[in-house]
Amino acid sequence: MRVLFDELKDLVNEIDALESIVGLLDWDQEVNMPVGGIEGRSRQLAIQARLAHEKLIAPAIKHLLTALKPYQDTLPYDSHESSLIRVTRYLYDKASHIPPDFQARLYEHLGKSQTVWLKAYAENDFASVRPFLEKTLDLSREYSSFFNGCEHIADPLIDLNDPGMTVSTIRHLFKEMRDQLTPIIKDIARVQIPPCSSLTKFSPELAQLSFGREVIEKIGFDFERGRQDKSTHPFTVQISPGDVRITTRVNEYDFWNAFSSTVHEAGHALYVQGIAPTWNGTFVAHVASEGINESQSRLWENIIGRSKNFWHYFFPRLQLYFPETFANISLDTFYRGINRVQPSSIRTEADEVTYNLHVIMRFDLEIQLLEGSLSVGDLPEAWRQRFQEDFGICLSSDREGVLQDPHWYDGFIGGQFQCYILGNILSAQFYESALSTYPEIEDEIRRGYFGTLRAWLKNNIHFHGRKYSPQELINRVTGKAMTIEPYMQYLKTKYYDLYNL
Ligand code: ZN
Repeated sequence: MRVLFDELKDLVNEIDALESIVGLLDWDQEVNMPVGGIEGRSRQLAIQARLAHEKLIAPAIKHLLTALKPYQDTLPYDSHESSLIRVTRYLYDKASHIPPDFQARLYEHLGKSQTVWLKAYAENDFASVRPFLEKTLDLSREYSSFFNGCEHIADPLIDLNDPGMTVSTIRHLFKEMRDQLTPIIKDIARVQIPPCSSLTKFSPELAQLSFGREVIEKIGFDFERGRQDKSTHPFTVQISPGDVRITTRVNEYDFWNAFSSTVHEAGHALYVQGIAPTWNGTFVAHVASEGINESQSRLWENIIGRSKNFWHYFFPRLQLYFPETFANISLDTFYRGINRVQPSSIRTEADEVTYNLHVIMRFDLEIQLLEGSLSVGDLPEAWRQRFQEDFGICLSSDREGVLQDPHWYDGFIGGQFQCYILGNILSAQFYESALSTYPEIEDEIRRGYFGTLRAWLKNNIHFHGRKYSPQELINRVTGKAMTIEPYMQYLKTKYYDLYNL
């Protein structure tokens, strides 16, 4: 049996390497590639994705999984071998529904769509990317059609990123959140906190990048096993365990933009850099789900990166980096400025409270597109209308609306946004658990020490990679299923204090 297991592991190593090359091609496309590379790159992506997929659904894997079943049944659930077989079987079962030709068509299309979006975004030109989005919608529906018997057309797309979640469970969760969020937003709206004008004063790009680098090194990002570049939309990609890349974008008149995205992406990178080396080259050496992944980035970006304790340590450093911009304001003014609740058009720049409404809106629109009650042609207007209803803001361009996020242009329509709310919810649930074991974490952060929190996250979450399902992991780490209570409590405590309510 050991021989068969090693055979399976060798095959998995090959497939994982092929898949990681897709990630490298994608990173290069977003960071370096000239626009003229679009045709060639789409073809390269298509061939690479098809090769990886063909190898995964080949009879060899199926035979090995069948032959190894009796062996797996004798192993403890937690063991290395059992976990590797279990995760491989899970991914094989899912992938075996998808024809390799589909995978090639999908990646070829998304390669082009992404580049067309970059130009459309820069020029505020939805019309040019509309046919690509229409095709993406067709491909998203086609993907879903490979899975018979699901309750909703979006379920297979959601399951791809957040295993175990469905339209029905997410709708329930989002309703619960909206019901609790609405009174908080109303209460906050009664009080005005003036904007902190220093945040939009000139902050040189080089200093922004250097300060961001200092902060993420301090919280634990390993530059020996990662790097940071610039891209239109910030993202993280895992090329291999020793090569985890993050990107940011810089606006010299908006300090918080690059800073928050740097800390956010570093949160993702810490997750991947923290996976146990024993899983290197296997399917286990990946995040458990996008929701869990976002819990890590949102934890560092918001719960830590927008906290008073964090800035108690870093604010004097910030003032040294930007004497012209921040030297003459108090920590309190800065803290209130970065936490000011103000409806705004861009999701990634939203405050912690209204952020959730951005996500719920995108989720609802995705569902309408997939169900066919909304057409791609009507999407920009539907976005504007819904935004007006939810935020009371009249959008002046599609750049501030439907063009702002890359998700629908470089991936499926469906299943792409729920992870951000799951991430918010879980960030608070995990942090509550960490604090109950190590109450000293908050004092340590105040002193600029992040080791206890980082070690807790690594040992309890990062280390396991995809060994456990998201639900198993949440239960193991917090002793209960996912619940929105800690997150709502976190928001209430923080913002009612900040707004003197
Ligand atoms: Zn993220």
